[in-house]
Amino acid sequence: MKSDAPLLEVDDLHVEFHTRDGVAKAVNGVSFAVHAGETLAVLGESGSGKSVTAQAIMGILDMPPARIARGAIRFQGRDLLEMGAEERRKIRGRQVAMIFQDALSALNPVLSVGYQLAEMFRVHRKMSRKESKAKAIELMDLVKIPAAKARVNDFPHQFSGGMRQRIMIAMAMALEPDLIIADEPTTALDVTVQAQVMDLLAELQREFHMGLILITHDLGVVADVADNIVVMYAGRIVERAPVHALYKTPAHPYTMGLLESIPRLDLKGQDLAAIKGLPPNLTRIPAGCAFHPRCPYVQDICRAETPPLQSVTGEQVSPHRGSACHFWKEALDGSIGR
Ligand code: SF4
Repeated sequence: MKSDAPLLEVDDLHVEFHTRDGVAKAVNGVSFAVHAGETLAVLGESGSGKSVTAQAIMGILDMPPARIARGAIRFQGRDLLEMGAEERRKIRGRQVAMIFQDALSALNPVLSVGYQLAEMFRVHRKMSRKESKAKAIELMDLVKIPAAKARVNDFPHQFSGGMRQRIMIAMAMALEPDLIIADEPTTALDVTVQAQVMDLLAELQREFHMGLILITHDLGVVADVADNIVVMYAGRIVERAPVHALYKTPAHPYTMGLLESIPRLDLKGQDLAAIKGLPPNLTRIPAGCAFHPRCPYVQDICRAETPPLQSVTGEQVSPHRGSACHFWKEALDGSIGR
């Protein structure tokens, strides 16, 4: 069950980076909400603004060069951007935790994983050494590390990539946060291990009724775990939808391109369709629809007018559905794309 009040609301967020080439508009008016018990996937290529959005929520952006030019990030109704550093630090880890892509560099190589997990309880919960070690083993069990008790004194390099990512999940779960942000949590893993780690995350999210934001460039990994998806391109949301609606009837040509580039077992031997071209330089975002230089359905209006993210209506109506394409109706009725 989802409560009505969102856990997190990102409202008209603008983040810029001041570079030698000019101002890079990394996040350009992004708004979304996440409720307790909901998994939201934030999808996009590198440079789409998805990770910068996550870092802004966590308060870990390097400022400068980054600058939050506008917007609000409300967590349980309170604007994180208005809080002092100490108050934000308390929320980070205890109420909002993050899982990074690269577990090996996120873990300290010279400390045992048990020590690093136990430290969370010693520092934040003031537990004794014995109590905190027992909690570390409990967490390792929770994330299904075999023989947790025997391995608690092992170092990060003694675990496989998948097991290390489970340890990162354990660290994020340690203080039972309300919201976890996982930034490409399975990118470094092979496909089978990816699926196991995703299943574990989804299972814990359901069991603890947390909000989960899953940042990814890979539409294939979120199909079974996300409730809703926002698709980002050049710092903006170009489509948002419940996951099944997005797979069935995408309402934006960029989403169509991403779906066509997912490998499929039933099309063995066929070349994968790739979206032509590259994402734009964020200091020189194309006028009109930023996707127009790569879009197979581009028209004159696309070069001149920026399509707003508008609600998708008609048969596909849903409070979650929106598309920033002048031709979303044609996308939905199949006159472009399919
Ligand atoms: Fe393509 Fe035009 Fe839609 Fe942009 S607005 S995605 S260029 S059809």
